[in-house]
Amino acid sequence: MNEKFIKNEQYNFIKRQVDLIKDSYKKNSDPSVLKTVRELANAQILELFPQAAREQVEKLDLSRWKTDAEFDQYVQDLARCLIPFPKLTEPQVKKMFPKAKKLKVPNLSTVDFEKMTYLSWYDISTNKKFIIYELNEKLMGIECKYSILNKDSLCSFCNRFGQVAFISTITKAKKSNNPDYYKAIGNYICLDSAECNKKITSVAYLTTFLEEAIRKHA
Ligand SMILES: [Zn+2]
Repeated sequence: MNEKFIKNEQYNFIKRQVDLIKDSYKKNSDPSVLKTVRELANAQILELFPQAAREQVEKLDLSRWKTDAEFDQYVQDLARCLIPFPKLTEPQVKKMFPKAKKLKVPNLSTVDFEKMTYLSWYDISTNKKFIIYELNEKLMGIECKYSILNKDSLCSFCNRFGQVAFISTITKAKKSNNPDYYKAIGNYICLDSAECNKKITSVAYLTTFLEEAIRKHA
């Protein structure tokens, strides 16, 4: 059985559930309410892992924990089961962006690959944001244009409210009568990708965004 079976965004989801439980412990004293909160959180967590083996379900099961210390230990234990982001080297990154001339690759030795859903960085000289994500078990990279917004907004990837950048990719939508029809896909995304990676609990939006973006290569 694979020891590492939890993705970063799933781990964030679990942490959020634990925070909700801890919060309700502070506010409620009714044991039946607390039991319900715990059971609901447990069910939602297990729902994320329909293929989980028995031992994995046992690890994920939080219904027996009650104190803050126990919940902290639970989250800490699960951190050991995190699937790290594939460790990339500079040549590998460069290969993913063959069209980007003089691509500036971030210092990969300082990147925390352990808790990461997607890798992203900016090139301020060309005004571009790069994103690498493992889509359908294949690493893919896209480049976007970005502009920083002056007011805070919700991030489309992680739903966190904070400083965002408007990012857009140009896609060539397939239209038989107009082969050169271009469509811009834009989104407000956390300016700080490290923060975004700490908050993201679902990749639904991220994958839709990337799938749209890569259609231009189809
Ligand atoms: Zn975000």
